[in-house]
Amino acid sequence: MESEARNQIYNNYNKLFYATMCHVCKRFGDGVSLKRCSNCKMISYCGQEHQKHHWKQHKPLCKAIQDVLRDYSMDYRGETTDEWADKKLTFAQLVSARLGRHLNADETNMFLFPKECLICHEWNKSLESCQKCAASFCQNHKDGIEHKDICALLELGRRSDFSAVAELNSPLELLFDLKRVSDASTFNNMKDFVNALGNIKTDSEMPYDILAAKYSLYLTRPLTLFHAMRLLNYVPKSNKVLVVHVVGASYAEEATFLPWRLLLQLMETVTSLMIVMIGPGLKNKWDPSRTNDNLLIFGNKSLFFEYHDVSYENYVRSSSFVKPDLIVGFNLSIEEHELESDKKIWSSSIHAVAKQNCPFVLTFFFLRDFEEGTNKMNTILGKEVDHLYSGKNPFASFRPHRVFGLERVYYDNQYVVIYQCLCS
Ligand SMILES: [Zn+2]
Ligand SMILES: [Zn+2]
Ligand SMILES: [Zn+2]
Ligand SMILES: [Zn+2]
Repeated sequence: MESEARNQIYNNYNKLFYATMCHVCKRFGDGVSLKRCSNCKMISYCGQEHQKHHWKQHKPLCKAIQDVLRDYSMDYRGETTDEWADKKLTFAQLVSARLGRHLNADETNMFLFPKECLICHEWNKSLESCQKCAASFCQNHKDGIEHKDICALLELGRRSDFSAVAELNSPLELLFDLKRVSDASTFNNMKDFVNALGNIKTDSEMPYDILAAKYSLYLTRPLTLFHAMRLLNYVPKSNKVLVVHVVGASYAEEATFLPWRLLLQLMETVTSLMIVMIGPGLKNKWDPSRTNDNLLIFGNKSLFFEYHDVSYENYVRSSSFVKPDLIVGFNLSIEEHELESDKKIWSSSIHAVAKQNCPFVLTFFFLRDFEEGTNKMNTILGKEVDHLYSGKNPFASFRPHRVFGLERVYYDNQYVVIYQCLCS
């Protein structure tokens, strides 16, 4: 790794957690002997210097973990992967409650991805960490087919994680030559598209596979919608603002707003695009007096954003409601929460979507969410809703993210369902 990138990670080491690495310098594998924190046994360091460096920050969490472990057993034997996942989440929630605050992403990963065999979750025996994917394996699974199948993807995910953290202090601007991609007919999937962007950064220090994965994550939202519009034969009315509602929007959508410029570029007849992000978890608050902050102008085209941190149902009832031409929900998990209140929100929001009488595009991270989600749509609406397309999304991101469970990695917008309309 470049020494500069190494420094950047050092400055941001708390953004990443890998159980097989020194938490501070992220060194791992051959030649690095790690020592676990002897109190909580959940975090490791290459030596005393880095353990000391981190101790002030780690101490409250370390203590909370020990407190919780006094009455909570993390012994998993005989449990399924799902049960084991639940147990880890409960553990994390108990620790969070004890601390009296939410856990950061890296802290949550301490619970989801502790030092254990990736395949059988054994943690009591001697484990070896893979030099490439940085996961741990027991002797039985170290050289097995399951590891072989997933190693390269996990490695790409890990290297992408590192590269994202290394850029935090000096974000690389993702430049793409919009003129070269305006011929929309030349690409049918994300790989083609990313390749069509060409050697944008042949001088980049970043290897092509990481850069391509990064681009795919960056572009997947506008391209997924563009792809859906092509399948729908959707022709935007000229001289009119094209209004897109992004339902269930969260931080992931807020953080990737610039690529929407691409959609505007790809649609020749549209000069004005309005992206309305709607979701109770949004951090951006809607302030009508500051509309100029949310307006971007490119040549003769303009792109406008709105943020509404409410449920879709409430947004539709509000005075700021603008009728949509298209509605899209990215990486939603309609079945995620069994809580009665969340179900109600979904159900009334889906009814509110149906009333708009326009195309609806829904994407999912996981096969299971996709299957459950489409069934759930039918249940909520009380009928078999016709879809135009349902399956793998050719414009999914191919940037892998670690996930606990049998899939081991997930991708943004991996599955997509395209509805002409939710009405019958
Ligand atoms: Zn270290
Ligand atoms: Zn500790
Ligand atoms: Zn194993
Ligand atoms: Zn590996």
